[in-house]
Amino acid sequence: MILDGKKIANDIKEEIKIEVSSFVKKGNKKPHLAAILVGNNGASETYVNAKVKACEFVGFTSTLIRFDNEVAESELIEKIQEINNNNDIDGLIVQLPLPRHIDDTKIIESITPKKDVDGFHPTNIGRMVLNLPTYLPATPAGILELLLRYNIETSGKHCVVVGRSHIVGSPISILMARNNKPGNSTVTLTHSQTQNLKEIIKTADILIVALGKAEFITKDMLKPGVCIVDVGITRIKSDKTKSGWKLLGDVAFSEVKDMCSFITPVPGGVGPMTIVMLLKNTLKSAKNQVY
Ligand code: NDP
Repeated sequence: MILDGKKIANDIKEEIKIEVSSFVKKGNKKPHLAAILVGNNGASETYVNAKVKACEFVGFTSTLIRFDNEVAESELIEKIQEINNNNDIDGLIVQLPLPRHIDDTKIIESITPKKDVDGFHPTNIGRMVLNLPTYLPATPAGILELLLRYNIETSGKHCVVVGRSHIVGSPISILMARNNKPGNSTVTLTHSQTQNLKEIIKTADILIVALGKAEFITKDMLKPGVCIVDVGITRIKSDKTKSGWKLLGDVAFSEVKDMCSFITPVPGGVGPMTIVMLLKNTLKSAKNQVY
């Protein structure tokens, strides 16, 4: 069965839209998300535009702040501090990656945890680990929401995560092991130094793949009936599409789909979920539900 992230994301957007409308009718201001975009990286531009569009759809206010590639780190931090102190703005995201001369960690740490709706600030990560109210990072939160809405049993299952990035692999491995629903899985976190990766993957009941290598996971690596969440997005050139490129996941989808209980497609799986979870976090912030 296909885990239709696009459909679920649209359902959630409709739910948020209704919630926003009743929140505003009660006399509250519209939730407001600010996004900082540095430089002109094509993929970042696409992601930020999709986020701004989603804000409009659900009735949020959004502000896009652009800097050129040469912006000084100090100037960026000054802007972030200004937004931290602006009571009209509920959430702030800084689109990654940033140019090399800027320290990502410093930038993330300069966002007040209260407005860190990407959930990347160490305070929010710590709160996630301790199972305290927080903003969960959007991609892992989107994965949990998909598992929940498709009623996929995770308790007692062996969940193998491939990739240990700060934004996907590490947090999802923590979340899947938490005493929560979804959660309560026995988690194995794997990465480029893992030995016997194939053998480990073959024991997965739930496989979450986030390594960024197109069609890395093939049929021979899987246990029949596995549930696969494919986070990877790789753009490759294609003469069969109008745009001249197509997106591939980390899993050889057409080869493996029939042996899985569930699988997310790429595109249309985890990607759309990521954006709606960002909206959810912004709404939470506007409603002061975390801090
Ligand atoms: P990173 O590049 O930050 O991390 C990749 C991880 O994969 C690393 O931990 C690396 O190990 C591991 N890895 C690399 N090669 C292998 C291998 N051969 N075997 C096992 N592990 C390996 O990735 P991200 O988490 O940022 O992104 C992963 C993918 O997900 C990308 O395609 C990205 O575009 C996509 N993505 C999609 C999102 C969505 O909304 N759908 C959101 C975010 C990302 P090591 O640590 O040892 O180097």
